Amino acid sequence: MNLILMGLPGAGKGTQAERIVETYQIPHISTGDMFREAIKNETELGLKAKSFMDAGDLVPDEVTNGIVKERLAQPDTDKGFLLDGFPRTLDQAEALSEMLQDLNKKIDAVIEIQVAEDVLVERLAGRFICRNCGATYHKIFNPTKVEGTCDRCGGHEFYQREDDKPETVKNRLAVNVKASQPILAYYKDAGVLYPIDGDRDIDDVFTDVKAIITK
Ligand SMILES: [Zn+2]
Repeated sequence: MNLILMGLPGAGKGTQAERIVETYQIPHISTGDMFREAIKNETELGLKAKSFMDAGDLVPDEVTNGIVKERLAQPDTDKGFLLDGFPRTLDQAEALSEMLQDLNKKIDAVIEIQVAEDVLVERLAGRFICRNCGATYHKIFNPTKVEGTCDRCGGHEFYQREDDKPETVKNRLAVNVKASQPILAYYKDAGVLYPIDGDRDIDDVFTDVKAIITK
């Protein structure tokens, strides 16, 4: 079962990825891990990628694609794999189709975990910090016991980091939506896109994931 997992930041991709690889015993292939491994093993492409990263440049698609192909050619992917964080562009999606064809493989399903953007903003923008002692809280997941009072020091002044502000989060999500749209359309056309409602209990979401994989 060859899978791609897609979803916006905060949609719960990490949790579902963990469950998928544990249940189906397939390798979890994330771009970050692949880069680290290629660099550690000093493969030709790994060294090339490193030279771009050391210079503070973006790693060009051809290098990234090459590293993905190296990884997908490893024998542990024969029973399947879960791709996470790749493809990030339509070009990469097209390159992926080509490399899989060379390897006599194909994508069986692209699972898209859908969560409404305003829900994601609530999840991602809820973090706040006590100005006095630095304790961190989250509006939904980890609120102070008494509203407006720090549990640790009793302080009443809080602030949000720039990254955690609703406007910053909204911008980050908008960039992600724009980038993922052509990729989702590409896989929809290919008939392998399976959207699921991610705004539910983790177990319920995973039940849907399993139903897609079993089918
Ligand atoms: Zn405090």
